[in-house]
Amino acid sequence: MTPNAAVEARVTGSNLIAGRESARGTATFRSIAPRTGEPGSIDVHEATPEEVEEAVEAAAAAFPELRATPAIRRATLLRAIAEALEEIGDDVVAAADRETGLGAEQRLRGELVRTTGQLRSFARLLQDGWYVEAVIDTATEAHPDVRRMLVPIGPVAVFGPANFPLAFSVPGGDTASSLAAGCPVIVKGHRSHPETSELCGRAIAAAIEATGAPRGAFSLLQGGGATVGRAIVAHPAVKAVGFTGSLPGGRALHDLAAGRPEPIPVYSEMGSLNPVFVTPGAVRARGSEIADGFVGSMTLGNGQFCTKPGLAFAPGELAELVGERLADLPSAPMLNADIRDAFVERVRHTSGLPGVEVVVPPAASEGAATACSPGLLATDVETFLSTPALSEEHFGPLSVIVACPPDRMADVARRMIGSLTATVHAQPGERAAIRDLVAIVVDRAGRIVFDGYPTGVSVLPSMHHGGPYPASSSSLHTSVGMTAVRRFLRPVAYQNAPQTLLPPELRDDNPLHIMRLVDWTWTDGPLHIVRV
Ligand code: NAP
Repeated sequence: MTPNAAVEARVTGSNLIAGRESARGTATFRSIAPRTGEPGSIDVHEATPEEVEEAVEAAAAAFPELRATPAIRRATLLRAIAEALEEIGDDVVAAADRETGLGAEQRLRGELVRTTGQLRSFARLLQDGWYVEAVIDTATEAHPDVRRMLVPIGPVAVFGPANFPLAFSVPGGDTASSLAAGCPVIVKGHRSHPETSELCGRAIAAAIEATGAPRGAFSLLQGGGATVGRAIVAHPAVKAVGFTGSLPGGRALHDLAAGRPEPIPVYSEMGSLNPVFVTPGAVRARGSEIADGFVGSMTLGNGQFCTKPGLAFAPGELAELVGERLADLPSAPMLNADIRDAFVERVRHTSGLPGVEVVVPPAASEGAATACSPGLLATDVETFLSTPALSEEHFGPLSVIVACPPDRMADVARRMIGSLTATVHAQPGERAAIRDLVAIVVDRAGRIVFDGYPTGVSVLPSMHHGGPYPASSSSLHTSVGMTAVRRFLRPVAYQNAPQTLLPPELRDDNPLHIMRLVDWTWTDGPLHIVRV
């Protein structure tokens, strides 16, 4: 049974350091509600350098205990966090709606369900145990006994984006997978949604208290990326970074981490173009349906999804069909004034480029409220290939459709930069013709979608959410799905180790009954070795 966490839905504007409130900084900020431009209810205290030090030191001190905690007890912690979040779910959703304008019923309740489901999936993974990738090669005349498994890397710094205040932020996939791995977490809260962050942080701290996990396993520090964020990443006790956000932010933290005396891995999931390729046969057979689906996908969350289809290569009619649908759509809030201003500036620049046609101009409000309607640009293959600005993300409700004959699709795909996803719409009779295109996009994206749309990332053992740079800083790993835990684990091989000094995952008797590769054969049974 999961112990009940006593969680209070209280917002004080404090940092949460190893289970206690701390608000020693004099610099404060407030979130701004994107719908109204109204400031948040409370001054939020930016963490001081001393508070950063305390949080990281507490994480380092908690690490030996957390890593030694049996996986089954870490699973209990993850379930307790899910329950504590549900306990204050109405307050969390209301705060997130106020701070992001994403919509309580349409979006944020679903994001909360996804977040708690994600925590429970990692709990199940811990019970199954295969995530440690245990491999045993028993001794032969040719080699010694070698046994390898994955062990936790150490304290992890987590940065979330403005557009997922739950599923990729304080209680999101990076936090869940770090704790699952046995790594303490220090989250740098996003300045767009500090009250949501504090509520979620309280749920995590309460679950830690209720389950007896070490308090230093979680801290939430509020404040700016350039100050608080950089100080966390530069701290020698931090051993890895999980980041979701913009390309400049992810790149800056990657470069900072690489320049440390001890460089550490930074797993940055960044922006993406998510190209969609549509064949003439698909447009003829189901052009209206594809246009409906494309518009639904590109305007989800007012275009503020990393998986938004930002670019399509299709017969010219698709731009007309999509443009007709977009022209009637109302405006919706963008996440904050900075994101709105950056979007407006990017669209102004791209719209003025030679060879780019504005099919539907997006219209944005000015001032603190951030409403913006969706837009569409169209161009041709030659303009696309000679205009690098068209290969950069427009983070907001805008896509670019490139009129592209089918015999040029492989050519444009070959010149694409890395993306989280690539999508192909084709009729059954065209499958042989798109084989080359599919082979090319496999090299440029982390997930290939057939006859669908890229938004919506299921949390599954099979999921991959990442891709070649600039979609992510390490194309080897995913930030969504069960193998996200792999980012915060490192392999260790034990050679000729006595049974009593081996971790249970590698012992002969396999006391945890986990699946292991033993002498090249998968088994969850014990080893039968005759020792002389
Ligand atoms: P952002 O501006 O990069 O902010 C993300 C976090 O990083 C914030 O806490 C921010 O702190 C910090 N940060 C930014 N620049 C930094 C720097 N130079 N040094 C240290 N810290 C820094 O991202 P956002 O605008 O909130 O989110 C939108 C972006 O996220 C879009 O590009 C979207 O495509 C991407 N995204 C990607 C995924 C994915 O899974 N790949 C998912 C969602 C969103 P401050 O508070 O100081 O800004």
